Amino acid sequence: MENKKALITGISGQDGYFMAKLLLDNDYDVYGIVRSTASGKLNLGVIGELSGTDGNESLSRIEFVPGDITDRHFVSSVISKIKPDELYHLAAQSHVGISFSCPDYTFDVNMRGTKNVIDAIVHHSPGTRMYFAGTSEMFGQPKTKPQNESYPMQGNSPYAISKIAAFNMVRLARNEHKIHASCGITYNHESEYRGYDFVTRKITRTLSRIQAGLESQIHLGNVDARKDWGYAGDYVNAFHMMLQRSDPDDYVIATGEQHTVEEFLDEALLYVPDLKREEILQIDQSLYRPVEADNYQGDFRKIHVRMDWSPTVRFKDLVRIMMKHDLEAVRKK
Ligand code: NAP
Ligand code: GDP
Repeated sequence: MENKKALITGISGQDGYFMAKLLLDNDYDVYGIVRSTASGKLNLGVIGELSGTDGNESLSRIEFVPGDITDRHFVSSVISKIKPDELYHLAAQSHVGISFSCPDYTFDVNMRGTKNVIDAIVHHSPGTRMYFAGTSEMFGQPKTKPQNESYPMQGNSPYAISKIAAFNMVRLARNEHKIHASCGITYNHESEYRGYDFVTRKITRTLSRIQAGLESQIHLGNVDARKDWGYAGDYVNAFHMMLQRSDPDDYVIATGEQHTVEEFLDEALLYVPDLKREEILQIDQSLYRPVEADNYQGDFRKIHVRMDWSPTVRFKDLVRIMMKHDLEAVRKK
């Protein structure tokens, strides 16, 4: 029997790495859209850094397709050529803070990019099953918790608004064109490969660098913000499970636990006992968001009941994995 074919947009990002690994381990032929620099160098991101390292040998089987999802012609030609069995649409301008300074760009990538993917499936590959990466940010500033799939969507940032529009485009295509398209309403998920600008990685990386004498302080914004943080490796399992079902649908993917940024910092500090919080922490007003979206806590019962999915990595494990990785990385330098 032929291997299944999967196409991943956003393969160079955090989730792209975990998604590709999972699919390669399940004998898929994996294709990934990547951007390139002006000099033609492909940006493979996390995958580029990990290729050839222990446990990551399978990454060499990925077929990279250079291009940009905002280009309608490119997206339609890639999808019509590959006709993937499964498409994981993970590409996005994914940073909430940056979306306030670059709203047009955020709308372009997150809305137009998603429309290009949907149109290409509808017109050139209607048998493709699609996963769309929605976000808890679509709920804005929730007044009650936990939130489930029916919680009202009143996004509070250009990022959230772009994702709500894209989420609705996916639902419309599912209802109108009967394509097999499912959305994850994913709460924050982190890992040792999270981008450095996200608060969890900023904390684990900066504390490790302070411990090694490479930096002296950590600057943070709103440390009272409350999030539901899970592990990216767990969440890609949920994306895959969603596409194995005969009925496409939307699911909250979360841990159901809520912690503040300050709690994350304190848990991380346990791994560097020489550092005293009051000596290294600087609260920086410029790092506050114009509008804060917090109080996130996801109710993942729907996916648990239907697919028996649950997170395996809990808050303390997450901090341990990330601290261990970043402490080792500075030791190796
Ligand atoms: P990420 O690390 O920021 O990765 C984003 C990916 O999108 C990168 O591979 C990036 O490529 C690619 N990309 C951006 N613009 C593109 C364009 N115009 N054309 C082609 N590729 C483009 O994000 P992530 O954490 O893996 O998240 C994956 C998805 O889940 C995103 O859609 C995000 O919004 C959503 N999500 C994430 C979380 C979370 O906590 N991680 C929570 C909710 C939802 P470059 O490397 O070239 O920039
Ligand atoms: P987001 O939830 O996708 O925006 O993920 P982030 O990791 O960027 O932010 C998580 C929370 O941490 C938000 O509520 C931020 O306001 C808060 N936060 C506090 N200090 C910082 C900081 O220095 N950088 C970032 N990125 N977020 C911070």
